[in-house]
Amino acid sequence: EMQVQKVVLNSRPGTNGAPVPENFRLEEATLAPDLKDGEVLVRTLYLSVDPYMRCRMNEDTGAEYLTPWQLSECVDGGGVGVVQSSRCSACTEGDVVTSFNWPWQTFAVMKGSVLQKVDPQLVDGHLSYFLGAIGITGLTALLGIREKGNVTKGANQTMVVSGAAGACGSIAGQIGRLDGCVRVVGICGSDEKCRALVEDLGFSAAINYRQEDVPARLKECCPGGVDVYFDNVGGTISDTVIAQMNNGGHVILCGQISQYNKDVPYPPPLSDETQDTLRSKNITRERFTVLNYMNKADAALCELSQWVKSGQIKVLETVVNGIGSMGDAFCSMMKGGNIGKQIIKISE
Ligand code: NDP
Repeated sequence: EMQVQKVVLNSRPGTNGAPVPENFRLEEATLAPDLKDGEVLVRTLYLSVDPYMRCRMNEDTGAEYLTPWQLSECVDGGGVGVVQSSRCSACTEGDVVTSFNWPWQTFAVMKGSVLQKVDPQLVDGHLSYFLGAIGITGLTALLGIREKGNVTKGANQTMVVSGAAGACGSIAGQIGRLDGCVRVVGICGSDEKCRALVEDLGFSAAINYRQEDVPARLKECCPGGVDVYFDNVGGTISDTVIAQMNNGGHVILCGQISQYNKDVPYPPPLSDETQDTLRSKNITRERFTVLNYMNKADAALCELSQWVKSGQIKVLETVVNGIGSMGDAFCSMMKGGNIGKQIIKISE
């Protein structure tokens, strides 16, 4: 028998309201050491907290592909770890593996069939990148831009990114530049984040939506208007950006985090004014779901890996330690406590 720690759902925040760390509870548990056929014992290295998890805290997630977390049961999400022992032919001891349904647990017995083996060379040994830049958030940024952004080299385009200092946003802005936008402007929630975007990641300009006059600063930073908008947040910020978009522009509808603590459907309804702008200026705004493009994942991960290794994409992370920090880290990320990808390190 083996002692492990796990995080369970302690209570639901309700459909209206911000999640709090007390919605989660740390428990001790024991693992039976003997594996059944097809099972793998994994040691957790890193866990991810992501905005979509807010939906899984509700009894009804509002999305067919998301199941609700159950009270007093182990919470799960993106994770990366190492195989300790295996009775699955696809896995051997020492393999680095990931899953979208990794239990929030220090060690776990999982079905080998839900694990994907990954190549540590892709991330130069930075295994947490499999949860961010060389994982689902990097894919979201790259495939979102390629599928919905219509970014064209030589077309003199200006891109705006909201949630720009977060995991997806920080990668999306850099890809916008690499794919040929002449100007990339980020919107985010602190001066420290603005500084990182411009000085470390090569954004042309950054706007602090908590401190600055967003419409005025956007006009200043985007004198030729906005051609492509990578939208992570929705709400007032997005109404403001869309009002300054050019004819034939494209909104990449990635996420709407400003609405996730409210009881509204996804995507939340737009104001009449914003709908009129989209229609009269012929701006596209199609819903984007990265999971619908996983047939392009392998090629996209190679491209991301090369950009990261060559230094053309810089990766920012906010790392906290210990399984006991999961609830704090999730709630902090939902309020903007992170720069880049929020990661929780569980073991060495
Ligand atoms: P982030 O790392 O961007 O973290 C969330 C960030 O959201 C915070 O850091 C905070 O930054 C910002 N934020 C929180 N509340 C508000 C608010 N009211 N107004 C404006 N900004 C706010 O998370 P991810 O990169 O993982 O996710 C970003 C977006 O991408 C989310 O909307 C998510 O749902 C979406 N997504 C979509 C996918 C898809 O397939 N379509 C896949 C993965 C993610 P700040 O300090 O700037 O406020």
